[in-house]
Amino acid sequence: MVVRSGNVNGSGSRLEDSRANRMSTTFLATLQEQYHWKLSLITLVAIFAASALGTRLLALIPAFKEAQQLNGDTFRAKMEKPNYAANQSWNRKWSLSFLLVIFGAILPFCLTIEAQPWWRFPRDIFVILMVYDFVYYLTHRFTFHDSGFFGGPLKWMHAIHHRQHNPCRWDSSYIHPLEVAIGLGLYVATIFVLSRFMGNFHLATIVITWFAFTEINLHNHDLWKADHFPFKYLNYASVMHHHHHAKFTGGNYATITLLYDWMFGTLDHGDGWGKPAKT
Ligand SMILES: [Zn+2]
Ligand SMILES: [Zn+2]
Repeated sequence: MVVRSGNVNGSGSRLEDSRANRMSTTFLATLQEQYHWKLSLITLVAIFAASALGTRLLALIPAFKEAQQLNGDTFRAKMEKPNYAANQSWNRKWSLSFLLVIFGAILPFCLTIEAQPWWRFPRDIFVILMVYDFVYYLTHRFTFHDSGFFGGPLKWMHAIHHRQHNPCRWDSSYIHPLEVAIGLGLYVATIFVLSRFMGNFHLATIVITWFAFTEINLHNHDLWKADHFPFKYLNYASVMHHHHHAKFTGGNYATITLLYDWMFGTLDHGDGWGKPAKT
């Protein structure tokens, strides 16, 4: 009896072992099936190509060419200061490792190249950018800046970016590496979470969205001159972010559009927002 019961137990645990093995093999197989590293690599290359091509094409338009010149000259002058150059290279090094994590470990699970109806492209681009902007708005307003109840726990970190009171385009990367990690982290987390609900995003959607996300971020910091049609909005976006940099208590916390600042009453046209700050 003892031997028999031992046999029964033995075969039972062997059964459990093989079931566990099968489950872990299935899990790994599913993970592998959903890990599209080639798509992620193509996305990365396409993003670099799009921004190189975009810069060249925009240079054909005088207003952009003038801005590229002005911002390039300002940046070169700033880079002559050792502290400034040190921050930029510190940040560049960290950004490489962030890109490795994003394109090696997160985006491969969010991409597809399956055909989809045309309307999914504009819808997905819009949803990703607007959801991200909302999350960024809250983070920027309540953790990067003084915010009463939350007390601005990351003010010390964000203060580095605000050292530039009148930024140029390339000051969008004059920033603490932790802030880059948070900004990119929120962006990629938005894509990841949305892809769980909306299905994997088309490679082209992610390339266009990423291009828009970085170009808008860079443009907000642009020293920009053209204030006539059709550049009025571009001028407005740059001026509003410069108001944000001019003082640490300024509004305009969102980055993609100023919709959430308008909705929550934090638009700042240069004279602050809400009640004047107590001194
Ligand atoms: Zn800020
Ligand atoms: Zn800024």
